[in-house]
Amino acid sequence: MSTGAALIPVEEHLSRVLSVVTPLAPLQLGLMDAHGCVLTEDVEAPAPLPGFDNSAQDGYAVRRDDVLAATADAPVVLPVTGDIAAGPASPLRVQPGVCVRIMTGAMMPAGADAVVPLEWTDGGVASVRIARAPTPGQHVRRAGEDVAAGEVVLRAGTHLGAAQIGLAAAVGRSRLLVRPRPRVVVVSTGSELVEAGHPLSPGRIVDANSPALTAAALEAGAIAYRVGIVPDDPRQLAATLEDQLVRADVLVTSGGVSVGAYDVVKEVLSRLGTVRFDRVAMSPGMPQGFGTIGPDATPVFGLPGNPVSALVSFEAFVRPALRTMLGASPIERPRVRAVARERLTSPAGKRSFLRVVLSVEAGSYVAAPVSGSGSHLLAGMSRATALAVVPEDVEVVQAGEQVEVLVLERRSR
Ligand code: AMP
Ligand code: MG
Repeated sequence: MSTGAALIPVEEHLSRVLSVVTPLAPLQLGLMDAHGCVLTEDVEAPAPLPGFDNSAQDGYAVRRDDVLAATADAPVVLPVTGDIAAGPASPLRVQPGVCVRIMTGAMMPAGADAVVPLEWTDGGVASVRIARAPTPGQHVRRAGEDVAAGEVVLRAGTHLGAAQIGLAAAVGRSRLLVRPRPRVVVVSTGSELVEAGHPLSPGRIVDANSPALTAAALEAGAIAYRVGIVPDDPRQLAATLEDQLVRADVLVTSGGVSVGAYDVVKEVLSRLGTVRFDRVAMSPGMPQGFGTIGPDATPVFGLPGNPVSALVSFEAFVRPALRTMLGASPIERPRVRAVARERLTSPAGKRSFLRVVLSVEAGSYVAAPVSGSGSHLLAGMSRATALAVVPEDVEVVQAGEQVEVLVLERRSR
């Protein structure tokens, strides 16, 4: 166990984390489970898209030569010899001098070479008056104009959002080879903790960290299991962690990493695997535990207990690790440069992550600090939309000066 008093830089701790985690091995997943994941195969279209010539409009499939003369003043009248809806089609043929009523998406009948939209006609059923001639191929969607047969439509490395999932389905794929979401197990430690919704007694507080960190893991793209509260009892903590190892790609604990008498996470984890506790040169979030435990060398993060420290530590270390496991890039939050609305201060030698509200004024980003900097002040954290990052060698950012900001999007998975 290393408790060295020296502070280690944020970058060094992050490097140690990232040297341990690797992208998860690819897995065949059902289409919807693959949503949000990174593709690890090229997806080829076995057939063209559209698969057949079809109508882009509700209207009439015609031989263009038959309606060339049509004008509003002198409409062409054609008999309507059939009706084609979208769906299973029996092959129809449009003979010269007649037309067929057709719906959007319905298969073009043989012989027809354009569609007259309903709006250019009187909408007739037995015969139709056509007031305008289409250009060749007008309102016809050609087979293969979206995707050619054999074309690679999605490349390995693509992040699968809604449109990509739709395209994979459109080319017939119900399963995709992707990097799966890492499974994250979240445990809060502390004998003072009570589950939200349960009665409090004097000296007890509600567990905010396991809900917050579980939500953060979900937002990072992971599958998250909230185990909840484990009291400050070394045997119970050790047993819980051991139980959870079977389903965890990553373990995250909060609390019990300082130098207090009941800091059980430190006590228990320091005995296991490669876990080490460091004082990281950051504010908030100085005490950090990290290493691997168990037969599969599962990464475990021992985050500090104060809720803001826990969440900022998650941002700084856990999120980049989870994004790495997902194979996602970038692994970091978007960064922008913003003008400080007020003077910002930061302890010498530490990287500060300050809760700010980001806005745009006169074309530039402005970062306004939320009130209160204590690491127990969760309400301020909930108002923040970004974290201003004040580097180790800067103690003061004057109002009006630039500061780098990590943008916290509150997005669902
Ligand atoms: P610790 O690191 O365990 O000493 O905790 C530091 C501070 O954070 C103490 O005030 C704890 O009561 C508080 N704390 C620890 N865990 C949680 C939690 N899950 N939810 C809310 N506050 C917590
Ligand atoms: Mg504690």
